[in-house]
Amino acid sequence: MALLQISEPGESPEPHTRRLAVGIDLGTTNSLVATLRNAVPECLPDGQGRAMLPSAVRYAEDEIQVGHHALAHRGDDALNTITSVKRFMGRSVADLRDESKARYQFTTPSGDGKGQLKITTRRGSVSPIDVSAEILRALKARAEESLGGELYGAVITVPAYFDDAQRQATKDAAQLAGLNVLRLLNEPTAAAVAYGLDQKVEGAYLIYDLGGGTFDVSILRLTRGVFEVLATAGDTHLGGDDFDEALAKYAFDTWQLTRALSPAGQANLLAAARAAKESLTESETATIKVNWGCGFDSSVDVTRETFFAITQPLVERTLSAVKKSLRDAKLKVDQIDGVVLVGGATRMPHVRAALETHFGKPPLATMNPDEVVALGAAIQADQLAGNAKPGEQHLLLDVIPLSLGIETMGNLVEKVIPRNSTIPIAKAQEFTTFKDGQTAMAFHVVQGERELVSDCRSLAKFELRGIPPMVAGAARIRVTFQVDADGLLSVSASEITSGVRAEVAVKPSYGLADGEIASMLQSAFTNANDDMQARALAEARVDAQSLLESMQKAFEEDRALLSDAEHATLTSQMGYLKQLAQGNDHRAIVRASEDLNRASTEFAGRRMDKAVQRALAGKTLDQIA
Ligand code: ADP
Ligand code: MG
Repeated sequence: MALLQISEPGESPEPHTRRLAVGIDLGTTNSLVATLRNAVPECLPDGQGRAMLPSAVRYAEDEIQVGHHALAHRGDDALNTITSVKRFMGRSVADLRDESKARYQFTTPSGDGKGQLKITTRRGSVSPIDVSAEILRALKARAEESLGGELYGAVITVPAYFDDAQRQATKDAAQLAGLNVLRLLNEPTAAAVAYGLDQKVEGAYLIYDLGGGTFDVSILRLTRGVFEVLATAGDTHLGGDDFDEALAKYAFDTWQLTRALSPAGQANLLAAARAAKESLTESETATIKVNWGCGFDSSVDVTRETFFAITQPLVERTLSAVKKSLRDAKLKVDQIDGVVLVGGATRMPHVRAALETHFGKPPLATMNPDEVVALGAAIQADQLAGNAKPGEQHLLLDVIPLSLGIETMGNLVEKVIPRNSTIPIAKAQEFTTFKDGQTAMAFHVVQGERELVSDCRSLAKFELRGIPPMVAGAARIRVTFQVDADGLLSVSASEITSGVRAEVAVKPSYGLADGEIASMLQSAFTNANDDMQARALAEARVDAQSLLESMQKAFEEDRALLSDAEHATLTSQMGYLKQLAQGNDHRAIVRASEDLNRASTEFAGRRMDKAVQRALAGKTLDQIA
């Protein structure tokens, strides 16, 4: 996902050199893999025709099981059967909720609870990255078998709200599974792509994603083929599972069971409730039937009406999040051009009905809601693999992986566009001249998170000439950074009062490999403290130098305004500051600069008076007032 390496429109292999690319929805509950066949995206099923792979991994004695086999042991081998691992990606134990903490035996490598967590299983301790890699490995194997070749790459989807640690963990898992990650794509964006919304000119869409254990709402705005996430909301602990639990509780109460269930009994009841819930999507009634073993079983019939009544509060909770996202995006209900349904739980009719009532139109539901994310990812993967025909629109959805900035005095970097900004983006910042009468300015465009230019990557250099001579600090030079939808950066600078302009386009070849990005981020992190010191020192030196220069100039112009004694004092203070500025103690430099400033206040006042008198000389009172 290196910056400026995004599209390669020229690359379009012949049909027979078509690269095998897949889209993977790495879900909390279920994961899927999809690919494009004859320009139509489709999910790849397992040997038994099932597209969905439960996101469950079991560390059994002699093997690692993934999917349905693993899930079957959730009741009887709970500690070694990891489900919902997505919740743990890029997280520490300290980040977890109490109920999650109780599910497994967690450890943290660093011991303070803040490092990325690990789970203790009978086969040793595993990280969420390891667990996710097992799921990805299974999907990769399925795809390679079904497509009959090695995969060129994959697009993997992540929730829009995933932070950097979570995204990085997802990427690491893919790498571990031997997948070439073409891009991480936001899940709502993938869904929108699956519906072909990116082919429209513009619009605002609400993506309503109710999965097994999570609920996400995202509002996307499409402008010229690029999606921007306007708002995200939701509840990381609300999903189809809660509907199962509501039904299970209903059954439990109906049966008037008094004893708490064993973990296995609880798992059985939940599975039965879930089956009933799913069949209520099609039928008017369903039966929750649990076989407790020892020839003892219980069953209860549930009507759709009852199910809807007991779970309506859950639906209402999703609607509050929808409203919040609209508020955050500053959009009204009627400004949403379409509502896209994602997640298996959106099959429930009362969820659809609630959305239709709220938006006054039915949601987009022609596609399979639990497949739509994977299908969109497959479309994107195909394009990124260079399989798209020339002229076909290129989807460009990305964020900037490293900050872009400009060198300022003292070898410092001023960040203009922070990392993770979505493209396209334009940002401007004003700079000024350092010296009196300065008529040219050199710009150095850099990429990276570090404070010092020498620690960042140099992208381009250019000059702005023809700045009218002014005193230092008077010129207003506006530098604009623009990253377009193709990921290309161009930087322009103009002096505002005179309008002189210069610009430079940065070529795509400046992209960084992912490894380089990772190491740059890592070094920014480890060196943050040193960098702050270095920055403080460099700033103190720049300020001191600029103060010394203006003092020197004032002496040349207005020596007459000072007594010999005053002149001597100031001169010695200047000498002292000059000497300190050679050293490394930024605090001492700042202090000496402040002292000099204070000592010269009187002198500055006299110069001001003189300037005012000179300005007033020869003018009438009218002209002054
Ligand atoms: P995730 O994104 O969390 O991996 P999914 O999108 O696969 O999850 O959704 C899983 C949820 O969808 C489960 O709660 C499942 O019971 C529910 N679900 C699947 N099919 C149906 C159906 N026909 N009716 C109601 N709920 C369903
Ligand atoms: Mg999902």
